[in-house]
Amino acid sequence: MSTRPNVSCEPEALALDAADPGHRDLFHLPPADGGRYQEAAYFAGNSLGLQPKATRAELLEDLDDWQRLGVEGHLEAGRPWLPYHELLTEPAARLVGARPAETVAMNSLTVNLHLLMVSFYRPHGERVRLVIEDSAFPSDSYAVRSQVRLHGLDPDTDVVRLRPRAGEATLRTEDILDHLAREGQRVALVLLAGVNYLTGELLDIPAITAAGHAAGALVGWDLAHAVGNIPLQLHDWGVDFAAWCSYKYLNAGPGAVAGAFVHERHLADRELPRLEGWWSTEPGTRFRMEPVCRPPATADAWQVSNPPILAMGPVRTSLELFDKVGMAELRARSLRLTGYLETLLDDVCAARPLTVITPREPERRGCQLSVRLTGASAAELARRLRHGYGVIADAREPDVIRLAPVPLYSTFHDCWRAADALADAVAVTA
Ligand SMILES: *Cc1c(COP(=O)(O)O)cnc(C)c1O
Repeated sequence: MSTRPNVSCEPEALALDAADPGHRDLFHLPPADGGRYQEAAYFAGNSLGLQPKATRAELLEDLDDWQRLGVEGHLEAGRPWLPYHELLTEPAARLVGARPAETVAMNSLTVNLHLLMVSFYRPHGERVRLVIEDSAFPSDSYAVRSQVRLHGLDPDTDVVRLRPRAGEATLRTEDILDHLAREGQRVALVLLAGVNYLTGELLDIPAITAAGHAAGALVGWDLAHAVGNIPLQLHDWGVDFAAWCSYKYLNAGPGAVAGAFVHERHLADRELPRLEGWWSTEPGTRFRMEPVCRPPATADAWQVSNPPILAMGPVRTSLELFDKVGMAELRARSLRLTGYLETLLDDVCAARPLTVITPREPERRGCQLSVRLTGASAAELARRLRHGYGVIADAREPDVIRLAPVPLYSTFHDCWRAADALADAVAVTA
């Protein structure tokens, strides 16, 4: 058995790239910082996506408008600021499989989860529980616990954390469905991650949404690691609400403006509680300075403040890119890239204290593969990959390395570099 991906694999990776080049030329790559190659092999696009080359020029246009127009830019800028957020609505809707009225670009992810939970986590009677997964991202855990406390309930009993079976790393859909069938009458809200940040597992969003509804609960999704990674059909799947960030697979820059989805069936509900501000009212009423908000029957009603215009441009640029390439093409390339990386890692892991914990079935994952390391520090290994080999991966303490070949800009050769570096950096066990 080979203990290092066969060196003959490198020409094979280069040949695959020649036949299937992706869109790397549209992005800035960080330098490798030493080693054989000029550019880094970037596998951290699930944490912070790379900068599209188009972003800088378009951002400067908005900045120039402010310089040139001052307050008059609200109406007279090339992209007028008052309705600026509307430029993001339709492309965001296409990306997540929603109607434009169901989608809005605003705030940041956890803030959006809070605004949406104010409307859609409404515990009453015995239906008080909020179901998440045990490996939820910490921000989501904190957010749901604080929402439960806001209702005078006890987060230690009313937040239910779904765990994988003993000895398994990922959740089974059947176990989630079972839980909802057994305990569903006590569940007010299910809030899960479409793709888990740690394991890379993609949950069956339509099946779990349907099961939550059958149990009488509402179902929301955190799509931080799903948006721009897998094709989504939020409207058809009947998802009640969803939120995502734009700095991971959407490449809109650190802290970028996030997105939110509210299903059409909720949009005209005047009884829904909601936190409101002047950007929640019908645009035509915004400057009447009236004391009462008149929210439109769209997701825009969940906006509170006027948006950060200088942060909206990079999101717009990014969504244009996704529109141009298309999620179907990206997903097809993603399956090829991640499948290739998996094959290489199988070889490397077989002789080393490394295990891929991401599901093996392509339909149960996005592009990310997570590798668990036994008996050594993931952070230390990530440092070695970075500085010894120019491979940028992401460590989650204590023992997981996440590798995300992003179909827009990652290459087969990047995958080969990652596997080769891991093989060299981790000692073979007998
Ligand atoms: C990245 C991520 C976040 C980050 O939250 P922000 O509000 O954008 O800081 C939250 N939840 C999940 C699941 C994430 O992956």
